[in-house]
Amino acid sequence: MKKISMQTPLVEMDGDEMTRILWQMIKDELLLPFIDLNTEYYDLSLVHRNETDDQVTIDSANAAKKYKVAVKCATITPNADRMKEYDLKKMWKSPNGTIRAMLDGTVFRSPIVVKGIQPCVKNWKKPITIARHAYGDVYKNAEMVIPGPGKVELLYVPEDGEEQTLLIHDFKSAGVVQGQHNLDCSISSFAKSCFEYALDTKQDLWFSTKDTISKKYDHRFKDVFADLYENEYMDKFKKAGITYFYTLIDDAVARIMKSEGGFIWACKNYDGDVMSDMVSSAFGSLAMMTSVLVSPDGCYEYEAAHGTVQRHYYRHLKGEETSTNSVATIFAWSGALKKRGELDGNREMVEFADRLEKATLATIEGGRMTKDLALITTIKGPEILNSRDFILAIREMLESRI
Ligand code: NAD
Repeated sequence: MKKISMQTPLVEMDGDEMTRILWQMIKDELLLPFIDLNTEYYDLSLVHRNETDDQVTIDSANAAKKYKVAVKCATITPNADRMKEYDLKKMWKSPNGTIRAMLDGTVFRSPIVVKGIQPCVKNWKKPITIARHAYGDVYKNAEMVIPGPGKVELLYVPEDGEEQTLLIHDFKSAGVVQGQHNLDCSISSFAKSCFEYALDTKQDLWFSTKDTISKKYDHRFKDVFADLYENEYMDKFKKAGITYFYTLIDDAVARIMKSEGGFIWACKNYDGDVMSDMVSSAFGSLAMMTSVLVSPDGCYEYEAAHGTVQRHYYRHLKGEETSTNSVATIFAWSGALKKRGELDGNREMVEFADRLEKATLATIEGGRMTKDLALITTIKGPEILNSRDFILAIREMLESRI
C-alpha cells in the first residue's frame, strides 16, 4: 500500500511517563504504517527540558508559530517531589503555560462523544467545547486582610494625567479585600481565537459573564467581544451559518443543562476553570477530553486534556500490565493531521485522520475498550484490553476499513 505523503512538517512535542509510552505505540501502529510521517521533533520530556534549561520548550513553541500546527504529548509540570525524582536544576515552569504565553493562545477543550459512554446529562448529544480565557482576574489578583476599621480605595496613577480614586469599602470591622485586573489586548486575543475557532469548526459560539452585577469589569469583556464580532466576524458567521450569542452566566448555565450540546462556550478565566471540569466529568471521563490551543493568528496545538497518568507508568516500569486509555492522544494526532492536511490541501491526509477517529470510536462501540471506559460503559460485557492491545484493536479496525 502506498503511504500518504506530507508536504509540510508537523511539530511533534513528545512528553513524559505513560503518555510517552502510548505516544510511541500510536506512532508505530496507527501512523507510520499508513503515512510518510514528516515531523519536526522536540523532546519535551522533563529530563530533556532539564538538560536544555527548558530551551527545548521555547524552540518547540517557535516551531509551532512557524509551521502553524503542532501535536503535544502530556508533560510533567514539576513540583517539589519531581525536583527530587528527576534531580532537577530548577523547578521549570509548565510547558503548556510557556507555549500558551508564546502563542498568546486560548485552550478549547472538548469531550469525545462515543456510543456506550453516556453523559450524566441525558439530553447532551453533541460535545460542549469550553474556551477558557487564560489571563488575569482572580489568577493575577492582589489581596489584603483588613485587620480593623479603615477605608480601602482603588487608586489609579496615570503616567500623565489626573489620578483617580474610588472607595471600595469603609470598613467598620475586620475583613478582606481583593484587586483584579485584565487587559483589553488579552480579552481581544481571546475573543479573536474564539471567533476563529467557531468558524473553523462550524459551531455556534456562546459567551457569558455577569455584566449586570459587574457593570464595568465584566461589561468590558462583553463590549470587546461585541465590537470585534460586529466589525470583523458578523458577515463571516452569517456565511458559515453559525451564530454568536451573548448571555448572562446564570442564564448560560440553565440553557446548557437543557441543550443538546454542539457549540463552543467561551468563559472568563475562573468560570472556565470550574466549568471545564464540570463538563468533562459530566461527559464521562477525563481520558476522553481533547484540547487544542488556538492562537489569534491561526496556530493550532493539539493535545489530550489529561496528564501523564503517573500511576500507570510506575506499574509499567515494574513490568506490570496497564490499561491506559489512548483515545484523547489518538485524537490529538488526528486533529493535528487533519488541520495540517487542510492547510496543505492534502485530502488523503484529512480522510485518513477521519478514518482513524471513526476506527477508534467503532472499536469502543464494538465493546473493546480500556478499563476506565469498561467501568462506566452501558455496553454489556465489554472486553477490557491492555494499553497495547487496545491500540492493536484500533489498527485492526482501521485496516478493515482501508
Ligand atoms: P492525570 O490526568 O495524569 O491523572 C488523573 C487521574 O485520571 C488519574 O487517576 C489517572 O489514572 C486518570 N487518568 C487520566 N488519564 C487517563 C487515561 N488516559 N487512561 C486512564 N486513566 C486516566 O493527572 P495527574 O495525576 O494530576 O498528573 C500526573 C502528571 O501529569 C503530573 O506530573 C502533571 O503535572 C501532569 N499533567 C500534565 C498535563 C499536560 O501536559 N497537559 C495536564 C495535567 C497534568
